[in-house]
Order: sequence, then C-alpha cells, then structure tokens
Amino acid sequence: MREGQHLRIPGPTDVPPSVLRAMSRPMMNHRGPEFAALSASVNAGLKSILGPAEMDILTLTCSGTGVMEAAVANLVSPGDKVLVASSGVFGERFVEILKAYGAVVDVISSAPGEPVSPKEVAKKIEADNKLDYKAVFATHNETSTGVTNDVKAMAATLEDHPALFVVDAVSSFGALELDPAWGIDVVISGSQKALMCPPGLGIIALNKDAWSAVDAAKSPRFYFDLRSWRKYAEKGQTPVTPAVSIMYALDEALRLINEEGVKNVFARHKRIGNMVRSGVKSLGLELFAKKGASDIVTSVNVPYSIDVKTLLGIARERYNVIFAGGQKDLAGKIFRIGHVGHVGDEDILLALTVLETSLSECGFTK
Ligand SMILES: *Cc1c(COP(=O)(O)O)cnc(C)c1O
Repeated sequence: MREGQHLRIPGPTDVPPSVLRAMSRPMMNHRGPEFAALSASVNAGLKSILGPAEMDILTLTCSGTGVMEAAVANLVSPGDKVLVASSGVFGERFVEILKAYGAVVDVISSAPGEPVSPKEVAKKIEADNKLDYKAVFATHNETSTGVTNDVKAMAATLEDHPALFVVDAVSSFGALELDPAWGIDVVISGSQKALMCPPGLGIIALNKDAWSAVDAAKSPRFYFDLRSWRKYAEKGQTPVTPAVSIMYALDEALRLINEEGVKNVFARHKRIGNMVRSGVKSLGLELFAKKGASDIVTSVNVPYSIDVKTLLGIARERYNVIFAGGQKDLAGKIFRIGHVGHVGDEDILLALTVLETSLSECGFTK
C-alpha cells in the first residue's frame, strides 16, 4: 500500500523517496563549511536549470509568495509605475503586493482561461513613450487557470524599453523551458512544485540590471533585503537560519533532475501535458484553457450535471487521488489536474481511470 496520497494538484507535489530520505539527515551548523558546500551544490543545480545567463541565484526561506514580495520590495519604490500582465489569481497577487508597496499599477488582464496577449503588452509598452514603467511583472505558468503565458514574446516587446521584466515561475521553473536570455531580469520560484520538494524554500535569480534597481529602490525591507542575502551568499551562508532540511531535499531533487537531464525533464512534462489533455477530452470533458493550455496543470470545465465537491470527494476518499478545485471566481466551475515534478505516465493512467470512475459514480455520461 502506498504511503501518502496521489497528489494530482499543482503543489505541493509528490516528493520522491530519495528526497524524503535526504531530509532525515542530522542538523548541521549553518555557519560552517558543510552548509557552504550544500549551498554551493544547490546553487549549481539551480544554475543548470536556469542556463548560462549571468544571474545571482538566492535561496530564501519562505513560500513562493514571499519571493514575489521580496522582488517587489527590492525593485520598486512607492510611486513607481509598473505594469502587470495578469491571467489569473497569481497575476492578481502581484497587483496586490505592488499596491501594498505603493506602486502605481497598470494591469492587462486576459480573459479567464486565456494567456495574456503579448500584443496587448506591446501596445502598453509602445504607449509608454516617457518610459515611466520601472518594471513589468508576468506569470509564466498561471496555475489557477492552467495557462502558460508566452513570456518570450512579452520579453521581446521590452527590447527597447528600460523596464525590468520580472517573471513568476513558481510552478514552472524546472518543468517548462524558460530562458533568461529571452530578456528576463528576475526569475522567481519555490520548492514545492516542479522542484519536487516540500514547501518552504523560495528561489530568486537576478541579473545585473535588477541589482542596480535593488540598490536604488526605496521601499522598506529587512528580512527580504536581497542585498543582505547576496552578501551572506558570498560566504556560503544566509543572513538568518535557513531551512536546512529542505536544502538537503532540494539538493537531492536537483541531483535527480540533472540525472534525468533538464531537457528530458522538459520533454517529459510536454508529453504528459498532451497525454492528460487528450485523456480528459476522451472522457467527454471540456478543457477550460482554450489557448496556451499548460503542460503542467490541466484545467477542466465541470460538466453542468456534476457537483465538483462530490466528484473530488469520491476520487479522494475511494481512490486516494487528490485533484484540485478552482480558485476564487472559478470555484465550482473548473477542477484542475496537476502533473508537475515527480510524475510519470503511470500516474496519469491512474488519475484518468480514477477520474472516469468517479465521474460515472456521480452519474456523468458523455
Ligand atoms: C504556487 C504559486 C505561487 C505561490 O506560491 P506559495 O508557495 O503558495 O506562496 C505563486 N505563483 C504561482 C504561479 C504559483 O503556482
């Protein structure tokens, strides 16, 4: 019998056995050479996903949202004008954080279940002829709607504009291709999705232009002062006590990713994304995301005859398979199937079979 549930949610995701075991290692002195070696190894692993771009990568102790806030606090001053390309809950989260820090926020919102149109971004950028935007914020994979945004095309619209481009890759980093060379200045991620670890670590990568903004920004910051994280990182330390056990986990997870090969990991997610979409359609269900459907989380319209709570309840109680409901406005309207991180064909076959059986127990016929 399997220990734990089949997590077909977009996070936290299933943690591989060797990653779980890595966390049972004894505690260490976080100011000693052992931690410096662990951090160097984690950094090298993260760099292999990020590619050759010249960026400093910092691993913070916080959830993904903490890193989003760190990015805002360090890059934006009160009164700064910024643009957010929002396609759902996580795009809106940037808007809320930016407003909390006193930024003047322009928002482009996509229609629900669609990616933000890079053409709309281009229009806003072209209209900003005084170059007021200090930064543009976008979500790579909008986990709430199961949509992947074309951040490469968005980055291209900023080629002749000095605004920094900040990308929330919390769910996608390590699963979907993302290359800072496209024109991304800041990449944000977290431990509990594609990186196959428990929640608790946040990751941020910044290039030289971003660091200049960090030095110039006037927002108050203390715990998340990235200048301090960078200073300590130079000695292989963190300014505050790090989540040592999750660092062990991340090191092992990154070893697994590199053993499989980063490109192969991307290819596996692509293949599985296709498999889930065609499986869902063959069950007589309709995809919520009509354009830009994500390869790591599939959103499905709830058939009108079905109560989604009952459906997900059957899958959970009888089959130990956990699907995710919709968030906020989409609650009751969609459900989501997560397929990111430690996921293989057999997991999807099981999920689709359980979905089919649970649907039929709810009285659904195609
Ligand atoms: C999960 C997620 C977050 C938030 O992460 P927390 O760890 O819950 O704070 C932010 N953005 C995206 C795209 C996510 O998928």
